[in-house]
Amino acid sequence: MAEKIIYINSDQYKDEVLEAGNVVVDFYSTECPPCEALASKYEGLSEIYGDDIKFIKIFRQENRELAESLDVFSSPTVLFYQNGRLTGDVLNGGIKRSDLIKNLDALLPEERVKEIKLKIKPVETECGVLIIGGGPAGLTAGIYLAQAKIKTILADIALPGGQVTTTHLVSNYPGFDKPVEGFMLMHYITEQAKNAGVIFRPAVDITDADLKSKKVLIDGYETITAKKIIIATGSSYRELKVPGEREYKGKGISYCATCDAKYFEDKHALVIGGGNSAIEESLFITKFARKVTIVHQFDKLQANRAAQEKAFANKKIEFIFEHEPREFKRSDNGKMEVLIEELKTGNHKTVECDGAFIFAGMKPNLDLFKEELKLDQWGYVDTDENMRTSIEGVFAIGDVKSKAYRQITTAVSDGTIAAITAAREIEEMEGQN
Ligand SMILES: Cc1cc2nc3c(=O)[nH]c(=O)nc-3n(C[C@H](O)[C@H](O)[C@H](O)COP(=O)(O)OP(=O)(O)OC[C@H]3O[C@@H](n4cnc5c(N)ncnc54)[C@H](O)[C@@H]3O)c2cc1C
Repeated sequence: MAEKIIYINSDQYKDEVLEAGNVVVDFYSTECPPCEALASKYEGLSEIYGDDIKFIKIFRQENRELAESLDVFSSPTVLFYQNGRLTGDVLNGGIKRSDLIKNLDALLPEERVKEIKLKIKPVETECGVLIIGGGPAGLTAGIYLAQAKIKTILADIALPGGQVTTTHLVSNYPGFDKPVEGFMLMHYITEQAKNAGVIFRPAVDITDADLKSKKVLIDGYETITAKKIIIATGSSYRELKVPGEREYKGKGISYCATCDAKYFEDKHALVIGGGNSAIEESLFITKFARKVTIVHQFDKLQANRAAQEKAFANKKIEFIFEHEPREFKRSDNGKMEVLIEELKTGNHKTVECDGAFIFAGMKPNLDLFKEELKLDQWGYVDTDENMRTSIEGVFAIGDVKSKAYRQITTAVSDGTIAAITAAREIEEMEGQN
């Protein structure tokens, strides 16, 4: 099957897109990692759907006027058309193959979709090491393994970079005389891994993972069989599981000050939590917000002393101790109303604010494989000092593993140790054969 992609300019848009039946358009840019991540998926799907749907690419930087007239302001952005009309989702950022397929299928009759699906052939790929998760831990393991000439595949449900990409400034990672933007730090590490030879599978769905047999199914059609697997999936924000939290997530409730504090210019933010993240992020939010109210369940903060001192000295920050949130609601005037309970008395009161940040700790990302692995009492993966887990040939590194300090430096250290150990074990296995 041949790739069926047509590259066009704005002046061909009318003929090639608006008057061409079923069409998908990728607005791409150069030097754009998410565009690179999309390219192979787009090409692969053009081979499968290309007889029924026209696959177009438009270079956004040179066709800016057209792009902006379509509300396309970032690359890549993928649009779907049926007989000249926009339809389906607008996809951008780290675009998943499954989201492309869902929208392509929607352009076609059901019967035709069934025939096309028969064209999707399963793919079998073998490698030395499969790394699941591309934050600092996984990328570092990749650099060491690829430099040791071991075929290394790194799969991530998002674009590589991990949590640090959402961290505004990093000041404690060695090698930079001034604080470095989290996004840039991870860009350098990702490029280093690419140059070392790591093979990336970015923004994929991991549909099945069998750690014992070291087989992982990606995007429902590619089975990767590895000699070793390294789990580097990190951890995620813990939800409070309070009514209204899911409903207003991303619409007034946030778990990331770096991402969302900028929307609180001259506003009132409520912060839930009293640990390091809650206090450090509250201080960051005060750069924008008029007022920050911290609601904490205990009678004192758990954050480090320096952060506490700064928070108590900051006139924009107020504290409500020994209270927990019970419900998030929106009032008629668009404000957020947070119902909080005083733990000693059980009395309730409502705090009005413009939005809330929740910093209730983290949980390991293990939904894929939890049942098989030995975990510590908090649910993080137990390893030995060489990052080996309870399953032979499977390692765990970074924030997902049981450890005292979760930092970039400790994540890259874990990645180094697991990679060197795995490489040696593979050499021994191959020496014996
Ligand atoms: C707000 C904030 C600020 C921070 N600031 C600092 C700082 O200044 N300095 C510092 O040293 N540390 C900081 N940290 C901690 C640091 O970010 C982490 O310790 C570090 O990112 C851990 O790296 P990791 O590779 O283990 O995990 P992560 O960075 O979390 O990366 C995990 C990767 O796995 C992927 N993934 C998740 N689930 C799956 C799955 N099922 N399949 C495939 N892939 C998956 C994710 O998409 C992600 O790319 C901060 C953390 C936060 C939350």
